[in-house]
Amino acid sequence: MGRAFKFVILGGGVAAGYAALEFVKHGVHHGDLCIISEESVAPYERPALSKGCLLPEGAATLPSFHTCVGIGAERQTPKWYKEHGIELVLSTRVKSVDVKRKTLLSAAGETITYKTLIIATGARVLRLEEFSVTGAYANNICYLRDLEDANKLVQVMDMHKGGTAVVIGGGYIGMECAAALISNNIGVTMVFPEHHFMARLFTAEIAAFYEDYYMKRGVNFIKGTVMAAFESDENKNVTAVVLKDGTHIKADMVVVGIGIRPNISLFEGQLALEKGGIKVNGKMQTSNASVYAVGDVVTFPLKSYRDMRRLEHVDHARKSAAHAVQAILSSDKVKDYDYLPYFYSRVFTLSWQFYGDNIGDCVIFGTLKDKKFGAFWVEKGQVIGAFLEGGTKEEYITLEKIARLKPCITDMESLARLGLSFPFDF
Ligand code: FAD
Ligand code: NDP
Repeated sequence: MGRAFKFVILGGGVAAGYAALEFVKHGVHHGDLCIISEESVAPYERPALSKGCLLPEGAATLPSFHTCVGIGAERQTPKWYKEHGIELVLSTRVKSVDVKRKTLLSAAGETITYKTLIIATGARVLRLEEFSVTGAYANNICYLRDLEDANKLVQVMDMHKGGTAVVIGGGYIGMECAAALISNNIGVTMVFPEHHFMARLFTAEIAAFYEDYYMKRGVNFIKGTVMAAFESDENKNVTAVVLKDGTHIKADMVVVGIGIRPNISLFEGQLALEKGGIKVNGKMQTSNASVYAVGDVVTFPLKSYRDMRRLEHVDHARKSAAHAVQAILSSDKVKDYDYLPYFYSRVFTLSWQFYGDNIGDCVIFGTLKDKKFGAFWVEKGQVIGAFLEGGTKEEYITLEKIARLKPCITDMESLARLGLSFPFDF
């Protein structure tokens, strides 16, 4: 015999926390909603793991960053879930799902049934073991996806203050962890295959600003190559990273951020998939009418670009979760999800935001030397993407408006000269 719920959220990350908040806003009955999570703690704001949690002093710890503090809403501690009659099933991995029978089976053998399921399983990190890298199982190699990873990273950093680290990967994790390592007095060499870091979003010119900033703080870059092996001591601790060309880099620790894969395996052969994610419609509903999916795991219609996309960012996790709950509870009144992509990062004392899409011609404005600059992406005569470093609250609001309204542009020179002051014709 198992338990039965009207609504089950599978996964206990960012999207789960925001979905729970939306259920509560709509007045969910006690005992109707259950969240099942492999993690041992209630949903939290995952971005804190590579920022506040890695500070050398006054580091953030739970319960301070449980959802939904990221939008200035209530901090949902386990007590909050209890008070609202939401069953929080933690430290429980679901090992199979039968969407026809509306049943989940936990690794411990418990069966849970639902009327409506929300999949919020997020993603897992890609590991170097998967690429058969020699020595990839050593102790002091750190990844960063969940609280356990963050605790290990902090512990390993504490052991090697004054030492050196190699960061593998030039994406978000690489960029944010390299900054955190430097702040913790650990020297950093970054190794990645692209010609500049954050290659999926930054142009070479934007990346050059950040790379220069990092180099002035002692970060060394080795670009256009990948690593081949780790050398370890008798205690299975990495002592050096060996690159493809044979170069040895001494290292007391390693941080790896080489991308993620959405957790979709439970649903392969049961739900329609697209572009590596679970395919949903504008209501976040999957190919099975009783199953919704949200966050990193979904490939959804990005209405304004008439495209199907999968996004791995917190704003989309929060908004798609709220949207799914609204659609479940009052489907006929809810319009299709109309999302404007929004990404951001904070490293050292720098902070940037991006809205929209980064295709077309890139026009840089402002001065890199004053740490106040931005970029517009112009496609077929319209501004469709906007990036800004060091902006004010008002400027970021303008940035969002530009990307949302996609104003027409003919005078690119004036756009570059005037930046956000350009007289956009909205
Ligand atoms: P997740 O938050 O990953 O949650 C998935 C949950 O599902 C987890 O609790 C997992 O344990 C659980 N789960 C999976 N499979 C099972 C199973 N079979 N059984 C039970 N439970 C299961 N984005 C930004 O926009 N800005 C940032 O600054 C930023 N910083 C980040 C920093 C870090 C270190 C990381 C890792 C990500 C960051 N992101 C950031 C990305 C953002 O956190 C994700 O987009 C967001 O967490 C996605 O939410 P989600 O709920 O879809 O997945
Ligand atoms: P990203 O996809 O951002 O970057 C991965 C990087 O690693 C890419 O530059 C990739 O290159 C490179 N790479 C791939 N394979 C190798 C390899 N074998 N050796 C060296 N480099 C390699 O993923 P991250 O791991 O940085 O981040 C994980 C997730 O966390 C993402 O979903 C991200 O959005 C999220 N995150 C978001 C943050 C934010 O929004 N501020 C902050 C932290 C995490 P290539 O492109 O060529 O594959």
